[in-house]
Amino acid sequence: MSRLIDISLPVSNALPTWPGDPAVSLEREGKIEEGSVANVSRLNAGVHTGTHVDAPLHFIPNDIGVDQLDLDKFVGLCQVIELAGEGRITAADLEGASVAADTERLLIKTRNSAWWQEQPLRFHTEFRALDSTAARWVVTRGLKLVGVDYLSVEPFEAEENHPTHGILLGARVGVIEGLDLHAVTPGRYRLICLPLKLVGSDGAPARTVLEVLED
Ligand SMILES: [Zn+2]
Repeated sequence: MSRLIDISLPVSNALPTWPGDPAVSLEREGKIEEGSVANVSRLNAGVHTGTHVDAPLHFIPNDIGVDQLDLDKFVGLCQVIELAGEGRITAADLEGASVAADTERLLIKTRNSAWWQEQPLRFHTEFRALDSTAARWVVTRGLKLVGVDYLSVEPFEAEENHPTHGILLGARVGVIEGLDLHAVTPGRYRLICLPLKLVGSDGAPARTVLEVLED
């Protein structure tokens, strides 16, 4: 049995993207059956496609891009918690979620993860995400990273001026969006998340896995 759980979304033309963001286009341009030496595909997509990391530059002008992120935040021990219910995730929800005192990286599983099993996939606006009180809780707890199971860490109907992104990215908390946690049991794992080294980019897709820890 593999010790790695892949929690990345499959990137294909069927993957929903944020309304207004570029749709994914993955097409084979060079084709062996049409005389090319090799099969060569072209990918056209936004940098916030699928499972991805947000850089501070996403919401903070002139801040660092994804190529300058500290990868130490994205690799290491993490805790996966599961929050039942609907609506915005608040500080009270996180406070009641038994986050261990030594947790530095927190992944939050919600009902959102079940949507990644839908056929066909579609964009949901009613996803669970962190409100500003939850974002402040993350910063106050000194977490290095927070990961969520939908395409934004902030609710679709955001509070004024998108405080969740501003609070988290302003404090240099690592942010992973678009995790698929449907097959993950809450608990402790080793997180490995490596965003593409896109120079000066506000975000980047990231193959992301959890390593099951030895007993
Ligand atoms: Zn993003």
